[in-house]
Formats: sequence, C-alpha cells, structure tokens
Amino acid sequence: MKTLICTTPGSFEYTEGEKPELKKGQSIIKVKRIGICGTDLHAFEGTQPFFSYPRILGHELAGELVDFDDAVGFEKGESVTFIPYLNCGECIACRSGKPNCCSNINVCGVHVDGGMVEYLSVPSSSLVHGEGLSYDALALVEPLAIGAHGVRRANVQPGEFVLVTGAGPIGLGIMEFARIAGAKVIALDVNETRLSFCKDKLEVPFTVNAMTEDVAQRLKEITNGDMPTVVIDATGNQKAINNAFYYMAHGARYVLVGLQKGDLVVSHPEFHKREATLMSSRNATRQDFEHVVSAMKGGKVDPTTYITHRVLFGQVKDEFKSWLDPANGVIKAIVELD
Ligand SMILES: [Zn+2]
Ligand SMILES: [Zn+2]
Repeated sequence: MKTLICTTPGSFEYTEGEKPELKKGQSIIKVKRIGICGTDLHAFEGTQPFFSYPRILGHELAGELVDFDDAVGFEKGESVTFIPYLNCGECIACRSGKPNCCSNINVCGVHVDGGMVEYLSVPSSSLVHGEGLSYDALALVEPLAIGAHGVRRANVQPGEFVLVTGAGPIGLGIMEFARIAGAKVIALDVNETRLSFCKDKLEVPFTVNAMTEDVAQRLKEITNGDMPTVVIDATGNQKAINNAFYYMAHGARYVLVGLQKGDLVVSHPEFHKREATLMSSRNATRQDFEHVVSAMKGGKVDPTTYITHRVLFGQVKDEFKSWLDPANGVIKAIVELD
C-alpha cells in the first residue's frame, strides 16, 4: 500500500508499505481523509518537540472500517474517525478518567506512525462512530474536539463573555463550542483576515485586533466594564499568553489550550486580586469527540467552512511546503484518498 514517510525535516518520500494485518483488539481503517494541522507542519519543519524521524504523519483521520476485532457495536463498512491519543490505561491520569493527559501518551502520527497510509491499524477502543457524517466532516472531529475540551475545562455558562485569543483552526473550534455552550464570544487576533472570517463565517459577535486597538479598553466596552469571565488561549504565543492574564474579570478562569516553550510570567498581585483559576487543556476525550460529532450532526457546526485546501494523496509531497506559507491562507488542508 502507498505510504508517505517524513524521512527527515523538510522531506517526504512515498514508499510501498505492508498492509496491516488484523491483530487482537485492533481495527483496520481504510483511510479516506487526512486533515493537516500545525503539528504536522512543525514536524515537517523540524520544530516539533519530542519528535523523531523517519515518521509517518497524520492524526486527523476519517475512513471506512474494513475489519475489526472486539469493536462492539461497530459494523464493517461504517464510516469512522478515531481518538489518536494512545494511552497506557495504568497511570494516575488514566486511572482518574483523564486518558487525554496520560503520563505515557503516544499520539498516533506524532510519537508513533500515523495515518498517511492507505490502511491503518488502530485500537478498537479508539474508534468513534461516524453517525453518517461525510468523510470531510469526520476528518475535522479531532481538531474541533481539542477546542470542545478547552471549553468544557472552562465550564462555560450561558451568557458569559468568553475571550478566545488566537483565531487559527483550534481557536475557531473553541469559538464554536463556546457559542454552542451559550457564551458571548469575543475573538482576539492580530490578523484582520482571520478576524473577518470569525465575523462572517462563524458569526462571532465581537472581534478585537490586538495590533490596532487598545485591547483592555475594548474588552471593557464590550463587557460593560466587567471584563471576560473566561479567557481561552489558542495562540501558543508567550507574549499573548502573558498579556491575557490582565484581560480576565475578577473571579475568572483562564484555560491554556495553546502551548509554547517558554515561561509564564504574571504579576502575582494581579493574579491574586482576581482569585483567578489557571488551567491547561490537553488533547480531548471520547466525550469531546462525541460532542463534536453530535454538534455536526445537529447542524451547529459546519465543517465545510474550515476546508480551504484539498489535494489527493499522491500530491502531498509537492503541495505540503506551500501550506507552511501564511500568505496562502490555509485554515484546514485536507488530503483525499479513494
Ligand atoms: Zn492536529
Ligand atoms: Zn496512562
């Protein structure tokens, strides 16, 4: 079967791999769509931490379930996606119902080989029913589940002002699930094109441009002087993350979905006087995946708004580099297989 390997930073190679055989507790997916995200781009560039080469990328997958062992309730031929965070099942996080932050986690397509193949063997326990959604939609479930998880961590309540910093694909998902939770969403970014996208395509009621506006002043106006009671970061930018501590209302929650490598620097009195809560949000759980599928099924999220670029599997090697250039306006690039 055709396989695409990231051999070293900056280079891909197509090879003929072995089609996986069915093993105990595993299922075989015939891959139909692969979503590309920042993790794949960083892996290709050589800037992804804890990454080794050669590696088969791809963790945002949709496919047809062609064979399985011990996948109760699933049917051959069914469209599925899967939870790509392979967890140990034994550590304290796994024992506490938090497999998304398992201390021995292996993300498929990152720490172990992923889905840039025609057939992939995955644990049957990681399968998620496609519920009749299109393969395009199912390839978007994983990145949206990350946003849904961040919103759930924040325990967003109806009517709350939720500030989402960063309007990339993860930030957009956070905005959608905050809206679904009943929040009044405020999008903050430095890119006017992205902010217009939030307004026009996602009907985000408030947008603020950090480059051209006085952010704190605008947030005050929007929230009638209260400031947002929830702030969720999806920038992964150190400066943006540190700044947003000052945008919180007193008593607010701040959830970090984005990740950066540096230190958080915050004035202790500013944090303390707010009695604020700081949380990180990592990956997502089955509950989030199923929430996303049901939101798509209910028409609350339209996956097609996200897909800006589409190529066939055989074109990935040539096209991948162009997705790194912000000038190309990629929100979500999708790879298609028959
Ligand atoms: Zn991803
Ligand atoms: Zn574990």
